[in-house]
Amino acid sequence: MQTVALICGITGQDGALLARFLLEKGYRVWGTSRNADTASTANLVSIGIADRITLVSMDPEIGADVIKVIRDSQAVEIYHLAAQSSVGRSFERPVETVSGIVLGTLNVLEAVRTLGNNARVFVAGSGECFGDTGQEAADETTPFNPGSPYAVAKASAYWLTRNYRESYGLFACTGLLFNHESPLRPERFVTQKILRAAKRISDGSGERLRLGRLDIQRDWGWAPEYVEAMWRMLQHADPEDFVIATGSTHPLREFVAEAFAAFGLDWEQHVTEAPELYRPSDILLSCANPEKARRLLGWKAKFSMRDVVRLMTDSLAGEA
Ligand code: NAP
Repeated sequence: MQTVALICGITGQDGALLARFLLEKGYRVWGTSRNADTASTANLVSIGIADRITLVSMDPEIGADVIKVIRDSQAVEIYHLAAQSSVGRSFERPVETVSGIVLGTLNVLEAVRTLGNNARVFVAGSGECFGDTGQEAADETTPFNPGSPYAVAKASAYWLTRNYRESYGLFACTGLLFNHESPLRPERFVTQKILRAAKRISDGSGERLRLGRLDIQRDWGWAPEYVEAMWRMLQHADPEDFVIATGSTHPLREFVAEAFAAFGLDWEQHVTEAPELYRPSDILLSCANPEKARRLLGWKAKFSMRDVVRLMTDSLAGEA
């Protein structure tokens, strides 16, 4: 009998990459989309696994949906990734963002508790929960200071997960994930927006790229490595929360410079900082300390921000 893993939110970047990783490990993979009939399976198709997974509909906000899918799949590992995942968009759609993340997480935890099936649960948390860290890198003991509807919702999901672990003994844990990228990132995220614009400009589009704050600093990693960390968290003897990050923080300006240089361009000739694109509040400095993951999970990011730019650029260059 193959072990079944259920990925809630399989059509997204991490869902597709995690599905590939688990298939390679020999799992049977079930995955959910809010509407399996109309879902975009582009990510699953692009990495060649669309026909190797069982795709079902599940709205994480509807408890009966969640119970049915968890029961039918007989999953022993559940990866709850489904979310409106953009910080910027969470300021425009706070209700959708917060209700999806908080109710969705609660429904998954409550389903596992009531079914009593002992499934292990990974919940995708976020480094955004820490807010502005200053130079003090955030670890698992750092208090939260969320600065967006998205981060507030993720903080709530973290506490729900911890509460179900401590109150009912569920094997449920949160990965406090810092930014991680891949060619599967949609263009509404800044890394992909920058790289795609640089490519178009190098192809002669003549456009100018307008970005929000260039002085923000983030820890950017390579998404395929982060999905392995999720899996390792569920193989660990005890359910614990982990910061998952590279441990290196870079200004966005540096990411932009690297990205444009990869296409042989000087970014300063092509990029404008546009104050109207600033968010209502933004984290200036986001630093992470992933030492616990290295120590207990044997997980350490191998790819740096520069590698991420190179790998995403290579992928874009391969597109028609
Ligand atoms: P993504 O590409 O945006 O995928 C999100 C998935 O959630 C999609 O499969 C989508 O599926 C579903 N979804 C979208 N809006 C939803 C809503 N309102 N309610 C319920 N489901 C919704 O995200 P990702 O980059 O793979 O990230 C995976 C998880 O990690 C997310 O929870 C994200 O917040 C978290 N995270 C990501 C990063 C990062 O850098 N990538 C960093 C920290 C945390 P359908 O549209 O098919 O239903």
